[in-house]
Amino acid sequence: MHTPIFTRRPLLGLPCPRRRWSPRRHLRRVRAGRSVSVSPTRPRPRTPGAALGFLLEGHRRFASGSPRDRFRTPAHLAALSGEQHPWVAFLGCADSRVPPEILFDLGIGDAFTVRVAGNVASAEQIASLEFAVDVLDVPLIVILGHSGCGAVDAALSGAAAPGSLPALLEHVLPGPGARSLDEAVAANVAHQLKYLVEESPVVRRAIDEGRTGVAGAIEDLSTGTLRLLDGHPPPEPFDG
Ligand SMILES: [Zn+2]
Repeated sequence: MHTPIFTRRPLLGLPCPRRRWSPRRHLRRVRAGRSVSVSPTRPRPRTPGAALGFLLEGHRRFASGSPRDRFRTPAHLAALSGEQHPWVAFLGCADSRVPPEILFDLGIGDAFTVRVAGNVASAEQIASLEFAVDVLDVPLIVILGHSGCGAVDAALSGAAAPGSLPALLEHVLPGPGARSLDEAVAANVAHQLKYLVEESPVVRRAIDEGRTGVAGAIEDLSTGTLRLLDGHPPPEPFDG
């Protein structure tokens, strides 16, 4: 029989007040080999709109220079060592300047993140996102592109690329008639989102059942602003 970590044992027959969950206390219990029976994860958005609303709040904190998420310690990692409950999945570019956890002020355990140059939805990436949707029950998938994307630029230029790059670039869509790199980046995000939904019956079913929403977004590196493409779920407030 295990003892829930949120309550103390009654003393002298009197019920004790609940204690707030603390990552340090949780880590002490884990290291001491004591039982940990209650999931210590924080509140999690469960609908596409709430997830998008919470995500945009995090981006506003980052963009205003006041990130507040501190769910990033070894204690938090230990608290999640036996389980994960992410509430957003990203298919983002591998570019060093667009780490979703930082741009959206997220902590350990929030985001299931797939990153590849050009944020392309090829088979392995689609399979990873299907795992997020079907097994982890993630309510939102975000395809995250960014201004000045080198992979999109390379695809747009059509110049010869070395090694295995051509195999990746064939998945990038510069966009029919794209006149600029910015237009091509937006066209590529929209294309990867559409391709993901078309190619994956798992993702399509989750969308049809209202369990998951999809959104395309572009981070502007020079201004730190985020642009959502049309067709995203309406953002809802979420008190996380
Ligand atoms: Zn890129």
